[in-house]
Formats: sequence, structure tokens, C-alpha cells
Amino acid sequence: MGYAADQSPATRARVERILARTPLIDGHNDLAWELRERFADKAPLTDLQHGAGALMTDIPRLHAGMVGGQFWSVWIPPEVQGPAAIQETIEQIDLVKTLVGRYPADLEMAYSAADVQRIHALGRIASLIGIEGGHQINNSLPALRQMYALGTRYMTLTHTRDIDWADSATDAPKHHGLTPFGREVVREMNRIGMLIDLAHVSEETMKDALRTTTAPVIFSHSSARALVDNARDVSDDVLGLVAQNGGVVMVNFYPAFVSDPRFRWGAMRAAEQARLNAPTFGIDLGQPEKAAADLAAWEKGHPQPPVGISEVADHIDHIRKVAGIDHVGLGSDFDGIPEAPTGLNGVDKFPDLLLELMRRGWSDADIAKLAGGNVLRAMAEAERVAARLQATGAPSIATIEHMDAPK
Ligand SMILES: [Zn+2]
Repeated sequence: MGYAADQSPATRARVERILARTPLIDGHNDLAWELRERFADKAPLTDLQHGAGALMTDIPRLHAGMVGGQFWSVWIPPEVQGPAAIQETIEQIDLVKTLVGRYPADLEMAYSAADVQRIHALGRIASLIGIEGGHQINNSLPALRQMYALGTRYMTLTHTRDIDWADSATDAPKHHGLTPFGREVVREMNRIGMLIDLAHVSEETMKDALRTTTAPVIFSHSSARALVDNARDVSDDVLGLVAQNGGVVMVNFYPAFVSDPRFRWGAMRAAEQARLNAPTFGIDLGQPEKAAADLAAWEKGHPQPPVGISEVADHIDHIRKVAGIDHVGLGSDFDGIPEAPTGLNGVDKFPDLLLELMRRGWSDADIAKLAGGNVLRAMAEAERVAARLQATGAPSIATIEHMDAPK
């Protein structure tokens, strides 16, 4: 164990007491895509009771981790475009619902904040669906509305690439934020009651969306940029805007997002790898075994910096300090990240993270807000905004239903 959290039965009982009243809700889990990749058409038949290979998620570990609510991501790769994106998204939604239906004693679909609380009170894990990228609606507001009808409750505006109406954090700026159609998407999400997720988007897109939305936003799996200058993390500037908006930043556990030494080590390793294979200087060109051996030697001289629970807790503490206790949550990204911090490598480990925060002096009320209280509040508020907009007869959409296909 790389940390010194109090593991005594009394402290463990304290976590159990808090999470019996407030569901622990994780913002992002990529199990559905992992199953599609590993088991293809047999994914819905996967045995989640006994674990499946090296997955970070299964039902016994969800219970051990005291998970009360889970946003299951229905991500599809950003390269999938056009009508195929709609089809694959629907297939992923079906996969989640089929899996949930196979384990009725453990899982139940949830479509509202009230559903989450009811299902949690029954001892089951409330299962919610999130879309991870605006490419998944193929520039169509009718498709967006039907994704809601199928049960989707958040949409990340982009994944790793710019789309026709929004810029990603990890692509060259194209629109410098949202286009007019992108703002229509945000307004329509407010009207139908789908949470706007600003993980993965560029800072300009974050700010445009925060200026446009009338409901709280979430960041389903993002950490703090003041601690690691990674484009996927959230700046203090934006954290201040999230506080004003009433939204929640749900912290991602990925080592390269939460540890600066690890992020820099990864960049140095990539540079070394490129150098060893560089055709221009070419000493190793055509000698892949030598390049691999040289890289192994480099790694021996530059050991990978360890990352544990305390780094994730540092991000949670930072977001709390800058945005406030009402604006921080958990967004593990389990089964979407290739590796996890030591001691925090699966859905059974959430209580260990809470124990570390207790060791740092967090109160029961603080832990409850982080674990799920904050995101439940944001969901309920987004539902109220939608009800109000629908009651006042706001038009379905002002001007554009479909964005013209890219030229
Ligand atoms: Zn992601």
C-alpha cells in the first residue's frame, strides 16, 4: 500500500454508513466498449458475476466498492462517422441495457435522479447511460432527442477530435469553441434534460458551453490542470465558472492525468522511442530489436514514477479548494484507461479513496457530496430546467434541425 489511510473497521463502517444514505455515483466507465472489443457479438453473454479477464469492472467488485450508481459510457471511436455512428451508438445502448437486464438483482436502469435514489435504496446499482462525443448524433437534433428517448442522460460534446460544431482539447482549434449549431445543441440538451458533459472538449468549447447552458454541466472524467498541465484536465479559470454554473467536475483516475512526473515521463519515453526509430539519423532503422533493447535500457535508467491514491486525492482536494465542495465528484474512467493508480485499480477500490480523504480531515457531509450528492443535485436541477423550458413552450429548436453535411 502506497498510502496510509485508516483501514480500521470503525473507519470502514463510517464509509458504509455514508454510502448507505448517499449513493456513490461514478461518472464514467467504459466496460461496454471493452466488452464489444473483447467478445464482439457475445458481449451481452459475458459473465460479470465472476469477472472477465483483466477487466476493471464486474458485479462482485461493484458491490465491494459500494457503488450505488454508474454512468456506463456508450462511446464509439471518433473515426466512426455518419449514419454508422448512430447505429453503433444504438448497439452500445442495447448492450448496456441487455447486460443490466441479465442481472436484475444487482443492476437496474435509471433515468432520473429520483430513479437513482430509489434503486440505491433497494441495494441495486443504478445504471445510467452517457454518450461520449457529439459525433454520435451525426449533426442531427432529431437523433439527439431519440438518444434521450433511448435512455441517454449525458453527452460529452466531443471525444479526441474536433467535430463539425465543437473543438476537442486534443485536436487543432478549428471553430475556437462552439459553432452556432453547437450552441443550438447545448440549448436543446437543456430543453430535453440531457446533461452537458465537458470532458474532452477544448477550453474555448468549455467556456462557450458554460456561457450558453442554463442547466448545470458535468465533466464526467476530468482532473485539475493546475496540478498536471495536460489538455484533458480542467483549468482553475474554468473551475471558477463551473462553481457559478452549479456543475460538477468528476475526477479521472488516469495516472498521466493526475501525476505530473508520470505525464512528463510518458512524454520523454515517447520522445526516446521516436528518436530510436527516427529515419533521419537512422542508426536503428531496420533494427527493431536493437531499438526495443535500447528503449528497455532507457526505461531501466528512467523508472516510471509511481502513482497512487494520494495523487487522485490531491486533484479532488484542489478542485474542492478552487471550485468548492459542491462541485467535485468521481469519474474513474475504469475500463477506458489502459492503467490505473496503485491501490485504485478497479471498481472495488472507491472506498480506499474515501478513506484517504477522511485521513485528510474530510467530514461525512463532504464525503457524501463528493461520492454522489453533488452529481445527483446537478441531475435534479437539469431535470427542473427541462421541465421549466418545456412548460413555457420553448420551441423545439429555433432554426436548425440538421447541420449541413461537411463539404
Ligand atoms: Zn474519455
